[in-house]
Amino acid sequence: MLIAGNWKMNGAATGAAEFDGMLAGASEAASRGVDLLVCPPFTMIGAFALKAAGSPLSVGAQDCHFAEKGAHTGDVSAPILAEAGASAVIVGHSERRTDHGEDDGLVAKKAVAAQQAKLKTIVCVGETEAERDAGDAVAVVARQLAGSLPASVNPQNLVIAYEPVWAIGTGRTPSTDDVATMHGAISQTLDTQFPGSAIPILYGGSVKPSNAAELLAVPHVGGALVGGASLKAEDFLAIARAAPGNG
Ligand code: PEP
Repeated sequence: MLIAGNWKMNGAATGAAEFDGMLAGASEAASRGVDLLVCPPFTMIGAFALKAAGSPLSVGAQDCHFAEKGAHTGDVSAPILAEAGASAVIVGHSERRTDHGEDDGLVAKKAVAAQQAKLKTIVCVGETEAERDAGDAVAVVARQLAGSLPASVNPQNLVIAYEPVWAIGTGRTPSTDDVATMHGAISQTLDTQFPGSAIPILYGGSVKPSNAAELLAVPHVGGALVGGASLKAEDFLAIARAAPGNG
């Protein structure tokens, strides 16, 4: 099971100490088969990766450009992330899709770049509240998956994160039945496209210590992508402890 933290644009001043706390708890989690990944802002990746070298705590990024290098002011490429010590990258987060107008086609190009740089690629999908209310959630996510996963993707290095947009940062979560329905549908789609590959499907959206156990126990939930509650070592490790381990 993978518990991934997305720090978004947070972590100034307190991030290093919180990361140290996560590092201290990573071995216990790993001993139960629970992998921890922290995705801080770009500037923290190098220092965190150095601290975590040789530990079971992985460091990733929240986005990458699709090009390997070039004239793209302010962007960071997948090879630069890998060189800084990142082993994973999130692509297609709903905040990127909304704030930066990223569409499925661009997300697919970023996924290709991430995979070429040998980064574990976490592709995010999820419906808006209006889409869910219209009864379209499963169809929307199926369309996002079809558009965001490049044909050339290596399933060994791929993770899907189902994050209903209306649950991100709101304190609201879908019912466990709704999570089960969506994760079952995603799993079926992935099994058809990549037979036998067992691609982990994370749930994301207002996961916290108090609801982690029930969300992580839902069939086909292979972990969590955690925003707000990943900023504090205590909360992040409590979520990891709530994960059903394999040991
Ligand atoms: C996220 O942004 O990926 C997320 C799930 O945020 P939160 O846990 O704060 O809802």
